[in-house]
Amino acid sequence: MSFGPREANKYYGIDAWGHGYFGVNARGHLTVHPTRGTQRVDLFNLIPRLKRRKMRFPLLLRFPQILHSRVEELFGAFDSAIREFEYPGRYRGVFPIKVNQHASVVSQLVRAGKRFGMGLEAGSKAELAVALQHDLHDDALIVCNGYKDAEYVKLALRGLEMGRNVVLIIEKPHEVDLIRKVAKRAGVKPLLGARMRLVARSSGKWERSSGAQAKFGLTTQELIDVMEGLKRGNLLDGFCMLHFHIGSQITEIRRIKAAVREGARVYAKLRAEGCPLEYLDVGGGLGVDYDGSNTSYEASMNYTISEYANDVVYIVQEICDAENVPVPTLVSESGRALTAYHAVLISEIGGQNLQENGEELIVPADAHESVRELYEIWEGMTRKNHREFFHDAEARRDELLSHFDLGYLSLRDRAICERLMMMIGRQALHYAQDDRFRLEEFEALEKRMITKYIANFSVFQSLPDSWALDQLFPVVPIHRMNEEPTVPATLCDVTCDSFGEIDRFVDLRDVKESLKLHPLQNGEPYYVAVLLLGAYQDVLGDYHNLFGRVDEAQVFLNRNGGVRVSQVRLGDEAHDVLRLFDHDPETMIERIQSQADQRVDDGEITKAAAKRIVQEYRDALAGYTYLRF
Ligand SMILES: *Cc1c(COP(=O)(O)O)cnc(C)c1O
Repeated sequence: MSFGPREANKYYGIDAWGHGYFGVNARGHLTVHPTRGTQRVDLFNLIPRLKRRKMRFPLLLRFPQILHSRVEELFGAFDSAIREFEYPGRYRGVFPIKVNQHASVVSQLVRAGKRFGMGLEAGSKAELAVALQHDLHDDALIVCNGYKDAEYVKLALRGLEMGRNVVLIIEKPHEVDLIRKVAKRAGVKPLLGARMRLVARSSGKWERSSGAQAKFGLTTQELIDVMEGLKRGNLLDGFCMLHFHIGSQITEIRRIKAAVREGARVYAKLRAEGCPLEYLDVGGGLGVDYDGSNTSYEASMNYTISEYANDVVYIVQEICDAENVPVPTLVSESGRALTAYHAVLISEIGGQNLQENGEELIVPADAHESVRELYEIWEGMTRKNHREFFHDAEARRDELLSHFDLGYLSLRDRAICERLMMMIGRQALHYAQDDRFRLEEFEALEKRMITKYIANFSVFQSLPDSWALDQLFPVVPIHRMNEEPTVPATLCDVTCDSFGEIDRFVDLRDVKESLKLHPLQNGEPYYVAVLLLGAYQDVLGDYHNLFGRVDEAQVFLNRNGGVRVSQVRLGDEAHDVLRLFDHDPETMIERIQSQADQRVDDGEITKAAAKRIVQEYRDALAGYTYLRF
């Protein structure tokens, strides 16, 4: 059976999780479709250009047009729902900055969202500072979440003075007093919201953000106390928003519906009590289907953006009608869904473990008898006898290893034994593919035979949730997809940490424990992409082993199909990351200099050698933190 783009697309699941943004072209290259149109960016063909711009691997490509497309899809979905249900209110989404605080990402989203009245959500003073200087629509909201101090409150009030719709969300009852005092001193009337704690729980990995034990949110009693406090403080007329957030990546639509139902009911009751609420903010949680399975599995979601918008709009309207109160302006804080698709990491594979050294295996005449027997097993194995022969081989191998322990086996014989076992294992697995009943030991063997490809990147810097939360991200080679991938592999990163490995891969029915990739060809580079990294991964990196920020660039598709690469930003050099941790590169160089001088004085090395040592040390500090394969 021939293998081509269609088979590759299916095997890697590209259409399933790609949401129309990714594909495979006739040359077997991975393509990006930033506008979801027919024009595509061929990632493999882009590489020479990136190299001319001095970019190195690993590198991160951002597709700002994908951010625009996501904003349009989200706001479009709410617009359609509002029209369909004749909802007599509006939608005013905000982007939560913490999901990706890179200046270029926030700016692109702000630009894309301006015509829709999209606002920003801040969870800290610094994020609020970012939000305040952006050019938002006049009606756009700036929602301030998180714990607060006087400075945070003051900054928000200055925003109000500048005509921005800055809403301070009360997370804890004592914040009412703080806000009242600061507002009085500042002479500004605050806009306020309250974050409530719902009984409704999320589903998936981020379930902890919800329910009675959640870190944030007011209990019902606290909510009532806050309302009374606002009345006493003469602040009730600024109480404009009710907010909840039950967690990120909510996998089941019924959880969302339950939360919205509960939240809308609280909104209606507060309105009926005389709170002038104008906004209902349903928080984040809108998912991304990382594995494309469209299920309630933790890497997926069992609903679409349209269904999400429809349910929010429909439920809120239904409850407001029943309670006979005006509907609110709807707000959501979707971060993951807006940003995940836009960033792609490309890494070069530098080698593999379990590599055959390519030489033909010759068993010398003086090899140990059991080694020769092992070779005969390899020669004699057939489809019919593979189980039995494999067992014989294992027994022979055990024998040989105990000979080695006792000192009776040479290192060369041991090497031949290891290579033979690898060849026998591969062959046995090949035959076992067709077995009706797989033996358990073949399952175990299969796991042992998974090749580790060494990939030039750091899990801890570029996809920390893969390590911290076992989150799945799609991995795809960017070329050679016209060839059948035959090597079951995992990706080991270049950190010295055994957790620095991608060993779980997306699949429609399951989670794959290995991903089939192409055999490495001597001298030919092999590139793989890790996708859907635009939410959170970009900003949680932690410099493990002093691997730093990677080179990055923005890629645009022109109307005529041409591709524009802009805003190349080279990543950290060794001295940059060293400074982050208070090492002083100049002092380090000086120390090497004086050690080298001493060696010269002692007559151990020449002056020229000392000079070379210092220069090369200096060059190393000025180099990219990743490897050059
Ligand atoms: C993190 C966070 C969000 C973003 O959630 P997503 O699931 O990424 O959309 C929204 N609101 C609050 C309060 C958050 O803390």
